[in-house]
Formats: sequence, structure tokens, C-alpha cells
Amino acid sequence: MSTDLTRLDAAVLAEKIHSREVSAVEVTEAHVQRIAEVDGALNAFLHVAGESALVTAKEVDSSLDAGNAPASALAGVPLALKDIFTTTDMPTTCASKILEGWVAPYDATLTVKLREAGIPILGKTNLDEFAMGSSTENSAYGPTRNPWDTTRIPGGSGGGSAAALASHQAPLAIGTDTGGSIRQPAAVTATVGTKPTYGTVSRFGLVACASSLDQGGPCARTVLDTALLHEVIAGHDPRDSTSIDVPVRPVVEAARQGATGDLKGVRVGVVKELHSDKYQAGVLSSFDAAVAQLTELGAEVVEVSCPSFDYALASYYLILPSEVSSNLARFDAMRYGLRVDEPGMSADQVMAATREAGFGPEVKRRIMIGTYALSAGYYDAYYGQALKVRSLIAQDFDRAYEQVDVLVSPTSPFTPWKLGEKVDDPLAMYLSDLCTLPTNLAGHCAMSVPSGLSEDDGLPVGLQILAPALADERLYRVGAAFEAARGPIGLPA
Ligand code: GLN
Repeated sequence: MSTDLTRLDAAVLAEKIHSREVSAVEVTEAHVQRIAEVDGALNAFLHVAGESALVTAKEVDSSLDAGNAPASALAGVPLALKDIFTTTDMPTTCASKILEGWVAPYDATLTVKLREAGIPILGKTNLDEFAMGSSTENSAYGPTRNPWDTTRIPGGSGGGSAAALASHQAPLAIGTDTGGSIRQPAAVTATVGTKPTYGTVSRFGLVACASSLDQGGPCARTVLDTALLHEVIAGHDPRDSTSIDVPVRPVVEAARQGATGDLKGVRVGVVKELHSDKYQAGVLSSFDAAVAQLTELGAEVVEVSCPSFDYALASYYLILPSEVSSNLARFDAMRYGLRVDEPGMSADQVMAATREAGFGPEVKRRIMIGTYALSAGYYDAYYGQALKVRSLIAQDFDRAYEQVDVLVSPTSPFTPWKLGEKVDDPLAMYLSDLCTLPTNLAGHCAMSVPSGLSEDDGLPVGLQILAPALADERLYRVGAAFEAARGPIGLPA
């Protein structure tokens, strides 16, 4: 019984729980047991909270037994939360030594929404330290392994959430996407993940990496499950000054419509700049097959050009570190977590020693790059130029969306690589983000949905679907139609 429940999708589990065919407690117990069985080999979780998840599950069961309507479409279905959202009942480490054991005094708005929706939180998932990385190897608590092949990376920074889904430790997960950290892990684990439009999911209580780019979002194994979670977490929040006060997009309806319908009348643009012979051959062939499938579904497919995308990487890797260098100044040994304090040290020395001991190499690298890019004399040449490129990218998108409804590209140029392969070569690591960065720079939305397994190595490939700001439902319509036409891929045992 218990192994069966971990194989089911969230929508199916919700239906069974709400019709009282199974209890939320049984579903949560099955997942807690699965975590105990498999996570030793994967390290997807930094903290498991079986007991508190069961308390939530019991509350859901009692409420349903009393005849109340479910608190949400996903009430009783458990979830894995990226360890960068604050939680008052579990540590929030951001996979950094500087926050080891730190328990936040307040819940993130997203955490509150999960609790109000009756979603048991199974625990906090591993990530690259402060969400900086593409492989989860920058975690201070050891890398997460890809369930498809445990010698390979699960993507990053949200590798823990993606690996938890792919290994059936959770049917739902939360990620954050600053430059691709939801979509690239989804692609390399054959799961689904959406970066919602910037400003539509609250950042209150999301520990900041780069505030103008960060966005929390839903992850699951199917497009419909992702949509159901999207509607739970989205919504205006007066506590986030960049939150947009608009109604939640109708993504569940779009996913249902997409799954049963065709794509007649939908205009799809293949981005020329995100299709290069430098990408892995098996990724390109899977992508080309996906585009053929979209055409078969009735979509009108054209090629579009966004020339400024060639500069997205350079722009992102100046803007992100600049914001990081400012945001991470708050870890000053006085207010949070770690404090290295020896007799006779001045306040400055305590601060320096704490940051030296508490931050890992990639975080330090980015703080230094950002500090340089913002320094007097270099500000215009680096940060200023990067902002200009950011505007050009938004203009290219606007022009493209005059012609088409959605854009498509591979999510990642590569299938999951071997652990250790790129750790000594930051530029090679950064290059894996080529296709995902433009969306964040423009504040738009995008999704990764599995396109299949690569013919060169049998590993997962993701199709990226992009849409303009506040048109998230388009992702779900196209994603669900594609998923239905593609058929099941299966997941590792
Ligand atoms: N891999 C990208 C980076 O290292 C994206 C990270 C993210 O989205 N959090 O910055």
C-alpha cells in the first residue's frame, strides 16, 4: 500500500483523500517512509519533518471527516519545500554554514499559504548555497544526487526538490528560480517546474539571492499537478513591495484544457539564439521532435530571433552578483546564525571571520564580482551596461510576442553531467543556464516539461516553454497538450 501511494500524482492523491478512499495520514506516512528508505543515497532533504507533516495530515483528515470541504484542491497532499523559505518549525539554512541551525521567527508568505491549504510539509530540500549554482554541488551539506543516475547532478540550485519528485519522495515541491533553478533541475530529472511571472508569488520570507530576479514557483511530476500548486502559492501580498495586485492566473483551467485539446490557433516561436550546435546532440534531437509534435497538435510554428539573448549570460552574471553582494551583507555575525568570535576580536574582525568561515567559495566569488561591478569607476562599465542589455532583452521579447503566443527552446543545453565535472570551471557551469536566464531578466514566466530521454545517453531532456508577463496560463495549455501527446516517460525505480 505505502509504495503504491508514492507512485501517484498529486491530483489523484487529492481526489482519493477528499473522497475518503485513503487518509491524508496514510499518504503522508507513505512518503515519510519512502524518504527514510531512499534519501540516504540521494541527499534531497536537509531536514525531514515527518512528525509535523503528520500533524497537518491529521488535521486535514479530521476536518474532512467532520464533513468540511477541503481547504484547497491539494489539501492532504504532502510537499517538499526548498530550504530557502522561512519556516518557524524547522531550520532554514539556505544550504549555508552561515545559517546552520537557524530557525526563523516568522513563516514566509508561501509557507503560510501551504499551511492554510492543508499541505503537509515533509521537510526542507537541498540547494546550492543561497541558490547560487546549477548542480546543487555548492551546498555546504553535500550534493544531491540525480535519481536517474546517482553519479550525476540533479541540476541546481533546486536539485533537492527535483530529486525528491523524481524519486517519489514527494508528489509536490517548491523551488525558486532566479536564473533557472526551477526549470533546469526539472529538465535534468524529467519533472515539471514553472517560474511564474515576477511579482505573482510572494517573496516575503524567501531569503534573497538577487531580489529583482528571484521568484518562487511550483514543481511536480505532471503539468496539472504543477498548475494546482501554482494556484495555491500565487497571489498578491502587501508584505512584498514587488508583488503585483492582479488576480491569480487561471492555470489549472488552462492545464485541463490543454490536456484534452489541440493547439490549433496557437502560435509558437522557436528562438533562433537558443538553438545552437554547441548544445548536446541528443538535446537538440529531442527538442526538434518536440517541435514536430507541437506542429502535429495544430500549433503554427515559426522561427523568431532575439539577438540580445546572446548577451543574457554576461548581463545576468553582473546583475546577479551585484544584488548578491548587497543582499548578503546582512549576514554580519550580529543578527543571524554563525558567529566566529574570539577574545580580543573587534566587531569588524568578528564579521570578517564569520563570513570567511560561513560562506562557501561560489558565494564568496559572487560577492567579490558584485562588489567590483558596483564600485565607483566601474559601475557604469559593468552594472550599467548589464542593465542596458536587460532592457534590450525585454524589447526582443516584446517584439517576439507580437508574432507568437509562446516561445520554445531546450531548457538546458545538456543532460545531467557527472558530479564533479564542472566544479572547477565556473564558466562551464554558468553556460548551462544559457536558455533560462532571459526569462528572469525580463520578469516573464516559463516552464520546463520533459521532452523525452536523450538518444545519446538515455538521460532526461526538458522542453522550455516561455510566455510574456501575466500570461502564465499559456505555458500550462501548451505544456499539458504536449505532455499528453508525448505520453509517459517513466521515472527511475
Ligand atoms: N544557475 C543559476 C545561478 O547560478 C541560477 C540560480 C537560480 O536560479 N537560483 O545563478
